[in-house]
This record gives sequence, C-alpha cells and structure tokens, in this order.
Amino acid sequence: MTTIDATFQLHRSTSPLSDAERASRLQAIQFGRVFSDHMAQVTYRDGQWQEPTVKAYGPVALDPAASVLHYGQAIFEGFKAYRQPDDGIALFRPEANWERFNRSAARLAMPSIPKELFIGAAEALVAVDQAWVPHGAGESLYLRPFMIATDPFLGVRPSEQYLFMLIASPAGEYFPQGLKPVSVWASKEYVRAAPGGTGEAKCAGNYAASLLAQAQAQQHGCDQVIWLDAIEREVIEEMGGMNLFFVYRNGAAPVIVTPALTGTLLPGITRSTLLDLAASLGYSSEERRLPLTQVLADIASGAISEVFACGTAAVITPVGLIKGHGIEQTINNGENGPVALSLRTALLGIQRGTLPDTHGWLHPV
Ligand code: PMP
Repeated sequence: MTTIDATFQLHRSTSPLSDAERASRLQAIQFGRVFSDHMAQVTYRDGQWQEPTVKAYGPVALDPAASVLHYGQAIFEGFKAYRQPDDGIALFRPEANWERFNRSAARLAMPSIPKELFIGAAEALVAVDQAWVPHGAGESLYLRPFMIATDPFLGVRPSEQYLFMLIASPAGEYFPQGLKPVSVWASKEYVRAAPGGTGEAKCAGNYAASLLAQAQAQQHGCDQVIWLDAIEREVIEEMGGMNLFFVYRNGAAPVIVTPALTGTLLPGITRSTLLDLAASLGYSSEERRLPLTQVLADIASGAISEVFACGTAAVITPVGLIKGHGIEQTINNGENGPVALSLRTALLGIQRGTLPDTHGWLHPV
C-alpha cells in the first residue's frame, strides 16, 4: 500500500479580506453565506489521491458532463472548530465525521479517503484561516468537507475521478434571541428513506428529496419536518437535519430515548455524543422503536416530559409542538425543558473547553 503524503501545499490567497472586513463579517455572522479566505482540495484519479492543496476560496471548473451534475454522486459532512479558553482552536470529534464520510462514500460507490487527508484538510484550512474562528459564546467555524464525481462521462457507472474539498463558514449563535422550542410537522405524504436506500448516508440526493416536505411543513406553520418510516408511516425516524430524543420520566430519573439506527436514519454524531454524556448527568438512555401514536399518547399522559432534537448546527433544540394530519400535541407547554438544557450546557462546555473533556472528543489544531 502506498503511503499518503498529507502535507497540504499552501497557495496563499493574494486577496484575503482585510482584518477590518473580516471583523465586520464576524460581527454580523451570516451562516452558510460567508466563507473563509481559503479552501482545501484533493483530487482522485488513476486510483490514487493526488497532491493535497490549500488555496484561495473560489469557483470550481467542472466539465458539463461531470457525472455529479447528472447522477448526483456527491456526499458531504459537517463539523465545527471551537475557540478554547487559551485562545487555541479545537475540532470536535473529526474522526467520527471521517468514519461517517467513508461509510457514505462506500454506499455511493466512491473511494474512501485516508484519515490523514480528511482531518489534515481541516487542520490545514483552520491553521491558515484561524482568524476566521469567532470568539463569541455560541460561535464556531463550521467545516464542510464534500466529495463529488468529476468524470466527464454520461454513462451511469461510478466515476473514476473525484474532487474532495473542504470549505469553512463562520457560525453564529443559533438562537440569538435565546433558545426557543421549534414546532415540527410529521410527514405522512413524503418519506425520506426506505430500507436498503441511502438514508444512513450523508449524500446530496437525500437533501434534494427532503425540500418539498420541508416546504410543506412550513405551509402548515411548522419549523421542521419529522420523518416517519417508509413502510408503516408510523415509526419516528428523525428530523430534517437533526436526530430526536424523547425524555421519559421514570419516577425521578429521566430516561432519554432515541430512535434505534435502522439503516434509514442518519447516525448523528451529536446523537451518539449525548448517549455517552447522559450517564454522567444521571440519566439513562435507550435506543428503540418509537411509534408516533405511542409517543403522542405518552406526551398526553405526561410519561414523556420533553422532546428535543440534536445536531452539529444547533447542538440541542427543544421541540414544543408536534403537528400532522389530525394531530396537534404541545410538549411541556411549548417551553424549554430541564433535561435538554442540562445536556446542552454540558455539551457546549466540553466543546468550548470550559468543562473537562473526559471522553477525548476535542482535537486541538
Ligand atoms: N440527521 C440528518 C438528516 C442530518 O443532516 C444531520 C446533520 N448532519 C443530523 C441528523 C445530525 O447529525 P450530526 O449530529 O452528526 O450533525
């Protein structure tokens, strides 16, 4: 096996933003619209990853026949770099994202990428653009690695050439007006993923297929869609871009319950982190089948005291209302609940280095 040289060649931008311009963009952060000065890039051809580079952020030239443009062979990831109390920078669980990226790659018949290149791209980009990692509470630098198929060929088959890139966008406080529970629409008309499909892969097509249901959720006055299983349209899977937890009160000790990984939902890294964190806060946890009808009855009876969603972008978001055809169920009077808030505080503290990282989740850059 050839060893990979993960030394990223740096071609510095000749027109980076001035300190004042960058500061003004970090003052009023527009997540996902503003990007740092550089990007990392590695191409794959002849069965090998080629020289890794970091260069000025800018457009990518693609052949109009590039297979990603026709057949959607594309995957991505999302994780964050956080400022630490000593002003250093740490990535949160990048190895978990690397592992999930390669599982997505395998499902989409794409090559796997070595850890040195995936994490090396994040380290190299964060090092050169470190001034883009914001300092404010609740702020971070969101990292978006992705891989697309670039063969200029219209035949339907796995591409032989790929482009892996990593770009960075500063992320502000998700709820600048304070944490506010969201409302969710349980979609019975559309499904996100079927058994044997691509539900557990982070591939572009899953998100294209979700847009209409998300628009429908908004037409019903809801913030987000809740996906149900494809066969019975009854078992709760996940939200548009977050996993779900249900807090059962068994006497005094809360149990946090989340849908089991059936192959049709995304195995969230925040989900797995919370399952690990629960015990240290005195909560037990379970992964199991959660039928919507049962969950609604358990909320109505008070057996479920809170519902919350979790993911990299917003960390933890309480759910205050579940709607659907003939369904309208408020949770915890539409207010934030103590279990969601305590998990949120614990996780944010570890990410920002103000609480001890006993699990070794932080990866200093
Ligand atoms: N489900 C879906 C469909 C998602 O897109 C995401 C965001 N990656 C999640 C769940 C949460 O995953 P994570 O905690 O790894 O961000």
